[in-house]
Amino acid sequence: MQELDTVSTGRAGYTYAKELVRNWHHVASTSVRNLGSWAGNLGLKLSHNEFPSDIFINLLGAGAVVTTALPTGSTSTHTLEELLGLDLQKERRVILEMRLPPMSDEVVFRVFKVMGRWTNTHAFVNAAMAFRVDKANAHTVTEKPLIAYGGINPTFVRASATEAALEGKSLEDEGVLQAAMQALADELKPDNLPQDPAPEYRLSVAQNLLYKMVLGIVGNAASSTVISGGTDLERPESSGQQEYDQNTETWPLGQPIPKLEARMQCAGEAEYVNTMAAVNEELFGMFVTSTQANARIASIDPSAALAMPDVVAFVGVEDIKGVNNIMAFAWPLPQKLFPEDRVSYYGQPIGLIVTKNRGAAYGAREAVKVTYDDIQPPVLTIEDALQKPPIKGPPYEQGDVQAGFASSTHIFEGAMSRDGQYHFHMESQSCLVVPTDIGLDVYASTQWASETQRAIGQVLGIPDNTINVTVKRLGGAFGAKIDQCNIVTTAAAVAAQKVRKPVRVALDLDANMTVIGWREPYLCTYKVGVDDSGVLQAIQATLTCDAGYVAVDTSSPAAVYCMTSCYSCPNWEVTPQVVLTNTACNTWCRTPGTVEGVIFMENILEHVAQGMGMDPLELRKKNLMPDGGTRPLNQGMIRFRSLVAGKEAKWLPDSLPVPRNLISDMLTQILTSANVEERKQIVANYNQTNLWKKRGLSVMPLLWPYAVAMKVPFNAMVSVNARDGTVAVSHGGTELGQGINTKAAQCAAYELGVPLDMIAVRPPNTHVNANSEVTGGSQGSDVASYSVTQACKRLRARLDAFKEENGLFDKSWPELVLAAFNKGVDICERYVNGWDEVKAYPVFGVACTEVELDVLTGQFLVLRTDILEDAGKSMSPIVDVGQVEGAYVMGQGLFTIEKPLYDHDTGRRLTDGTWYYTPPAALDIPVDFRVSLLHDAPNPVGVQSSKVTGEPPLCLAFTVVMALRQAVASARGDAGVTDWFQMDTPLTVDNLQRLCLVDSSRLTIK
Ligand SMILES: Cc1cc2nc3c(=O)[nH]c(=O)nc-3n(C[C@H](O)[C@H](O)[C@H](O)COP(=O)(O)OP(=O)(O)OC[C@H]3O[C@@H](n4cnc5c(N)ncnc54)[C@H](O)[C@@H]3O)c2cc1C
Repeated sequence: MQELDTVSTGRAGYTYAKELVRNWHHVASTSVRNLGSWAGNLGLKLSHNEFPSDIFINLLGAGAVVTTALPTGSTSTHTLEELLGLDLQKERRVILEMRLPPMSDEVVFRVFKVMGRWTNTHAFVNAAMAFRVDKANAHTVTEKPLIAYGGINPTFVRASATEAALEGKSLEDEGVLQAAMQALADELKPDNLPQDPAPEYRLSVAQNLLYKMVLGIVGNAASSTVISGGTDLERPESSGQQEYDQNTETWPLGQPIPKLEARMQCAGEAEYVNTMAAVNEELFGMFVTSTQANARIASIDPSAALAMPDVVAFVGVEDIKGVNNIMAFAWPLPQKLFPEDRVSYYGQPIGLIVTKNRGAAYGAREAVKVTYDDIQPPVLTIEDALQKPPIKGPPYEQGDVQAGFASSTHIFEGAMSRDGQYHFHMESQSCLVVPTDIGLDVYASTQWASETQRAIGQVLGIPDNTINVTVKRLGGAFGAKIDQCNIVTTAAAVAAQKVRKPVRVALDLDANMTVIGWREPYLCTYKVGVDDSGVLQAIQATLTCDAGYVAVDTSSPAAVYCMTSCYSCPNWEVTPQVVLTNTACNTWCRTPGTVEGVIFMENILEHVAQGMGMDPLELRKKNLMPDGGTRPLNQGMIRFRSLVAGKEAKWLPDSLPVPRNLISDMLTQILTSANVEERKQIVANYNQTNLWKKRGLSVMPLLWPYAVAMKVPFNAMVSVNARDGTVAVSHGGTELGQGINTKAAQCAAYELGVPLDMIAVRPPNTHVNANSEVTGGSQGSDVASYSVTQACKRLRARLDAFKEENGLFDKSWPELVLAAFNKGVDICERYVNGWDEVKAYPVFGVACTEVELDVLTGQFLVLRTDILEDAGKSMSPIVDVGQVEGAYVMGQGLFTIEKPLYDHDTGRRLTDGTWYYTPPAALDIPVDFRVSLLHDAPNPVGVQSSKVTGEPPLCLAFTVVMALRQAVASARGDAGVTDWFQMDTPLTVDNLQRLCLVDSSRLTIK
């Protein structure tokens, strides 16, 4: 690329090379580009014609000629089209060199890439075009142009008929353009594969890219409104701003420091379960998984696998000595480790093959013979599942919705769906179980060690005190390791029990994406009534979530309570529903239930604003809840689950008091800091003057109910070492990358009055930190910090009393603790938070997002996002800002890029790797990203006056959807359609472009 860049300015006839360099920045990633070669890329294209290679199409467009050599030494040259006809491998032919010819200044050369995110992903459609044009003669194409496309079907390359339709013709002639569009429609036959965007989209985009080419050539000869269609979206350099209070008086508590493990993680030195050194005689376990989604298992025969070298055992349902249920704290429905009769989803574990090494497991897994009968078609979507009656939960009811609708002057009805999301933790589900002479030592990647301990005890039929679960750290979790990790931990434990040897199970990425469920897909149907001024009168809605094949981790019963967010409405009836599908057991994912309640409410408000012709922000302001109110909390579900699990302690407060609704103040702040009104005007003007590029700017407030239960024990242990005064802390939470250890250490250092570097946070285990709760629901850092704080307060009080009694006022900390120890004072302390010690409270946030949409392709940029987040008095501002930024971007992926795909015949999840499933990457985040933590906002009931930050900001990413709605609405308006339209998420580029109602007949020059 460097060489191309150099010749593009230094050598006559090579200006066009700049265009290659520009596009190749979007080919794979920097690291892949550094490793891969252009020849390898061409080699890949030749052996996989379906691969939409950018390099191939781009070089073909540039007229590249390649020299190859046979083993005999004979060489020959080929155009890239000729190269396609060769079989390099069969002939053992090697690509030696490539020559790029110079190009006349009369030739306009452009390459295009339309893709699902901005980097490190393959093209949906790519193209290269070269037109020799006589500008002075109405932009006439003076020789046969070159038009090549990728991503259409495995054999399509050149649009020859379209090339012919343009040769010798003026590009300013609308008739010529329309003829070319027709020719393209006739010759392009996109294939129809479930993992690719629909053929209609790919054809439309192919036409639009040609249109872009033409607009780019004719320039000012086109009308000013269409001219912006000729350019691609160009992302400026990213920038960010972070603002927070310093609060120096409490440092190191509240000091902005990087996460304690950050350097170690970046250096690759941080140890995870799967990077722990092998223990003596360790074996490896790999799941044998179902290749049917809805069938009865007729037989399982592992004999061929067991005869293979290095294969030790097959572990099946018959090896379960206890209860075949991996859920310790659950609904009445069990989730079986291995099925006893039918399989319910493609990829479901049927058993575990145990081998001496990982390599042997792959072959052995395939050699286990499983046969099926009674094979039924899989049910994969909520719509299909609703053919049967769903499981209904108790509704959230307030007031009288029928009376509310009767008093409404405007009623709107609609629906919105939101698809699932892979958790995309960097560390896959993994566990190492080591049998010892006192039971099992378990090293697990779990968010809830005591749940894992109990689940293993239950499945193996052994007492909990024989199982010690240690959790050093997790490489991310996002909810997938709350209870679904126990598919892996219990399987490893059953295997270890059977073979009496250590067994490690660590899923590959494809298994992690297939075996384990994702965030639940959702469907919301709604009816809303307002009065003439837009004030809400009644909301009736049904929230249906897709639980997967078993309804153990469903969030819709909680989601219905979260719709209230920061708004008032006198009458509500919101019903939760759950459907079952032939997919993996879907599970909690960062802000489960809350995000659905919040976004469906925002969508309703968008609908009302559109229907009433009101400014969406003004409508929201009209409906904000007053100070001094309460928010409902879902007592029912959590109480029910607690009782089922034999725990009476897990109760939520009746409701969440909101003494002050901070939203009005925060909106005022962000309107000023983000210069909202002026930018809204600029956006409106932009949309009026541009047909093919659109912008949108949205503002969204959020009240996120931090509904911590009355009792969520986090068992903290603080040990001071007598000889040097250093402190070791272990708390019942788990370090998932969210910075829980950093906050705990900052609390400990502050409370004990020692420097931060005297504190070490040790990994928790179920012996020292017994019965601790789940690190999830944003409560981990909060409650663990609370227990550590309380333990340190007690310890400090004891040492202060000792100091006072003995007059040791001039002693340093190490001298004091040694003196106390020598006098028999206990210099360790344990604390478990008790009933209602940690309080629930509302978390507020506001965000403003501006986007720019390329109507012709559906690609967009998030130009700028401003977030004002209420973190109370932050315990660790850099950690909190990181949480805000990360949560927001994860939400952006949920709402726009990430789309689960299935084979509808077999039920196989097609998005089982990073080729078809892409979370946001570095070039998808807001170009200008500004995060502020609310100034001077101590939380009177918060731990160290702080508020949680792990989950709430994810909801604010819905501003991207709202801003895109404005952009799409403007595009639809240009097409003459001004009605409300349903916008399901994710808003993938094909989804967005379809919504924009682009039709080839509207592709005009004037
Ligand atoms: C994460 C990711 C993202 C990607 N995104 C894109 C993308 O956006 N656009 C895109 O176009 N590509 C993309 N790719 C593909 C990437 O560009 C290719 O994998 C890469 O170019 C292959 O190059 P290599 O040198 O590693 O080839 P290898 O993997 O070494 O070789 C590939 C094939 O070519 C043969 N071969 C290699 N060199 C020669 C030679 N000199 N003569 C004859 N045969 C040869 C090999 O025998 C083999 O069959 C992506 C890949 C990854 C992993």
